[in-house]
Amino acid sequence: MNINLAQNKNLKLFKLISEVAEKNNQTVFIVGGYVRDLLMKRKAPTDIDFVTEGNGIDLAKAVSKEINPTLKVSVFKNYGTAMFKFDGLDLEFVGARKESYAEDSRKPSVETGTLEDDQKRRDFTINALAISLNKENFGDLIDPFDGILDIKKRILRTPLEPSQTYSDDPLRMMRAIRFASTLNFKIEENSLKAIKKEVERIKIVSMERIMVEFNKIMLSEKPSVGLKLMEQTGILHLVIPELTALKGIEEVEGQTHKDNFWHTLEVVDNISENTDNLWLRWAALLHDIGKAPTKKFVEGLGWTFHGHEFLGSKMVKNLFYRLKLPLGTDMKYVQKLVKLSSRPIALIDDGTSDSALRRLLFDAGEDLEDLFILNKADITTKNSSKQAKFKKNFEYVALKIKEVEEKDQVRNFQPPISGEEIMELFNLKPGREIGILKEKVKEAILEGEIANDKEEARNFVIKEGQNIGLILA
Ligand code: ATP
Ligand code: MG
Repeated sequence: MNINLAQNKNLKLFKLISEVAEKNNQTVFIVGGYVRDLLMKRKAPTDIDFVTEGNGIDLAKAVSKEINPTLKVSVFKNYGTAMFKFDGLDLEFVGARKESYAEDSRKPSVETGTLEDDQKRRDFTINALAISLNKENFGDLIDPFDGILDIKKRILRTPLEPSQTYSDDPLRMMRAIRFASTLNFKIEENSLKAIKKEVERIKIVSMERIMVEFNKIMLSEKPSVGLKLMEQTGILHLVIPELTALKGIEEVEGQTHKDNFWHTLEVVDNISENTDNLWLRWAALLHDIGKAPTKKFVEGLGWTFHGHEFLGSKMVKNLFYRLKLPLGTDMKYVQKLVKLSSRPIALIDDGTSDSALRRLLFDAGEDLEDLFILNKADITTKNSSKQAKFKKNFEYVALKIKEVEEKDQVRNFQPPISGEEIMELFNLKPGREIGILKEKVKEAILEGEIANDKEEARNFVIKEGQNIGLILA
């Protein structure tokens, strides 16, 4: 089969690479994700992999020189690869190779090989397709493992024996699940069995690499596809046991609770319809993790998960640390959303007093809209009248919050009286009284005792200051 590259927007580049390779007496092929996505008519990737029978580093250097002698080529000698950026593309060149693996490492020992050797070492048949850029058969598809058929059947299959493939490099298990989730493919049955069998090998993969794949699952259209596969194969239990701990339904005195694991997957899918923000999706994934350790059956009350949001937000930090995820603002954002995840709904039950609304506004600040997106996604009941009721209640809270926000402006709260002003009022040096008075002002505003207003705050501070024995200057 010949792939007509005449209309390809990189045709000029491919021709140039073809000519340079010929001059250098080496073959060259496009391989991997670019070919796969081209055949699937997906958005063309900006990274393109080329394989050559010969030296990949030499070819990269020769091609870049031909394009522009000032281009900077990054060389990875140990891997026999080199890459450079050109025209918004990441172009990577590798010499065709044959690999063999040692038991304790996912780094193979490598010999030079033919194109076919190189295709064999690739993870899936759909990633092992190559397009020739050589003059005699420019555009020919080289597909020794029926990758094209697997694209049609939408299945992920390994070119070689699956157990060996996954055991050699267990990252491939995560890649299989990632592709299943992003491409909406099935993992072929023998592969799935092999992953289950080799699952413990995931332990030799660095957490950073696992999380790169995991985050691609989280960003796929329906992350539950990948999450279910992770659960089913046992990987999830090894990587994020806090999530699998949410599985199951218990019954005491005829009372049950919902299965919080399956609920969580639904929430993640729901939220993914409304946001591409990775960390908001993570907040959905973790919003109930405090429920496993707080679960309790209380006589007369039924199942309770008292304080699960608070505990959950504490667990986020340990989890991010262990998963080697960033510990800065992204982590704090996830913590905050987990902690606040039940607050808007609780407002409905406890009554929407202005002070409760102001407190929520104050605590959520600029993340209030995201919190609402999470709350909407959290409605997973199948009972349509219940669903309508929740949605209506929720819209009511959102509306009330808007009213309070316009009136009191406590979102991104700025104290109406500063520490310096308080010091001046009582002729004070810096000290703990100032913090105490500022906290009282904030509380009084949130409780609605005074308005968020300079004059009222000043009078309030004078009164409160005198109450604790301070003397006006
Ligand atoms: P994408 O770039 O969309 O994530 P991709 O298939 O291009 O998908 P890359 O990580 O860019 O994935 O890898 C390029 C190619 O290298 C793959 O298509 C595959 O042929 C091969 N490859 C990558 N990682 C592995 C691996 N762990 N084992 C075997 N082959 C791999
Ligand atoms: Mg790629």
